[in-house]
Amino acid sequence: MRKKIVAGNWKMNLDYNEGLSVFSEVINMINDEATGTQEVVVCSPFIHIHSLVQLAKGQNRISLGAQNAHQAESGAYTGEISAKMIKSVGAQYVILGHSERRQYFGETNELLAKKTDTVLADDLKPIFCIGETLQEREANTHFDVIKSQLVEGIFHLDAEHFSKLVIAYEPVWAIGTGVTATADQAQEIHAFIRKEIAAKYSQQVADATTILYGGSCNPKNAAELFAQADIDGGLIGGASLKSRDFTDIVKAFN
Ligand code: PEP
Repeated sequence: MRKKIVAGNWKMNLDYNEGLSVFSEVINMINDEATGTQEVVVCSPFIHIHSLVQLAKGQNRISLGAQNAHQAESGAYTGEISAKMIKSVGAQYVILGHSERRQYFGETNELLAKKTDTVLADDLKPIFCIGETLQEREANTHFDVIKSQLVEGIFHLDAEHFSKLVIAYEPVWAIGTGVTATADQAQEIHAFIRKEIAAKYSQQVADATTILYGGSCNPKNAAELFAQADIDGGLIGGASLKSRDFTDIVKAFN
């Protein structure tokens, strides 16, 4: 059975002390209230990760992730952070290809393919984000856009490496907007992604791939989204900054 995951993406929010206190609350609430086997991943800013890993020691359901990594192993790239550094402080995941990275930092599928290779080489698991803009959906090109993000970003991997990935479908028009894809819209795309994976690799690989939904997921809509056959959890932005809301989303799997 594939893994169910609820991952929080804090983006550039919460200073160091705020981050520690939100994360401590999340740990306590998850332990007290979340009864399922779902995994919880918090993708914090880089500078929080080391301390959050210490707080999460002994918590076998809760792990840490970063929100980006450079494509090179090391070198003269002032201000950048490598996958190896992220690994060395105990994180297990790295978000790659978030639409904000694509939009504001010009990250292309080609660059993301390189980042994916580097992250996997350092034994971290990419949470690889794909999704169409509103214009693309309105022009009815969303299936083509998603297919090229898959083909150009991650379908160069062999099946063994591919099986380490988590995919997040995040329609850009739903991120931070308060507009959520309906459960039917999200399921339609998740099923399409799984079908493409089956065609490229095998049904077995497709059935084992965790595909998360992201885009204005909240405690009210999470249960309906997570109940869909091909939705295996969520990538949560705004609502992951509040321990109560984030825990309630995790509990949508209880
Ligand atoms: C995200 O940025 O990955 C995201 C899903 O944001 P939000 O939940 O705030 O829409």
